[in-house]
Amino acid sequence: MQKSGRLSTDSQKLLEHCGIKINLQQQRLLAFAENMPIDIMRVRDDDIPGLVMDGVVDLGIIGENVLEEELLNRRAQGEDPRYFILRRLDFGACRLSLALPLDEPFTGPQCLQGKRIATSYPHLLKQYLDKLGINFKSCLLNGSVEVAPRAGLADAICDLVSTGATLEANGLREVEVIYRSKACLIQSDVELPPAKQALIDKLMIRIQGVIQARE
Ligand code: ATP
Ligand code: ZN
Repeated sequence: MQKSGRLSTDSQKLLEHCGIKINLQQQRLLAFAENMPIDIMRVRDDDIPGLVMDGVVDLGIIGENVLEEELLNRRAQGEDPRYFILRRLDFGACRLSLALPLDEPFTGPQCLQGKRIATSYPHLLKQYLDKLGINFKSCLLNGSVEVAPRAGLADAICDLVSTGATLEANGLREVEVIYRSKACLIQSDVELPPAKQALIDKLMIRIQGVIQARE
């Protein structure tokens, strides 16, 4: 699970509500469940899809946006990553959107033809604009994407939005949603010993119950 960020509290709560007693120590990479044979690895969210795809961990809680970007990234490098999506979760909702400076006209994605777009999600962006036949240049930024137009680095951005407040604060307006995301639980494609798979199945039933009770 994510160590600290927008998914970490909800991820921890989900496991707690499933009856897993975790003894989290702030600075530790690994934590252990007190009442079940489960080890918890806490890392940057960007590392989670790869750890699951490589079979280093059995399960991961990750935003679909980061998962899909890593899938496309690996495919672009000729890999064929495998994993199972066990369940879409009820938190981490956000959208990946195109945004433009307030004074830039926008009548449709064609307005982005030939423009430079700053993003942390180059593959998701390319997949979307390729389908529309729009050529663009990407400017890869791993943070502060919203300052790129003002800094003269890009004409537009493609970034995660939940309320739109950050965009507004930077003189940008959301013009097109390209991807809607939530957190999800994924499992590696590695075959597990029956006892481990049985534990995962049991966990899935509990997660189902927890999420249903919150609906
Ligand atoms: P890390 O330090 O783990 O790399 P981060 O800064 O990349 O963290 P966060 O901002 O904590 O990531 O976001 C983690 C995930 O939370 C996002 O990838 C997305 O799936 C989800 N999320 C939900 N709402 C938002 C939002 N408003 N902005 C960004 N991400 C959001
Ligand atoms: Zn991250």
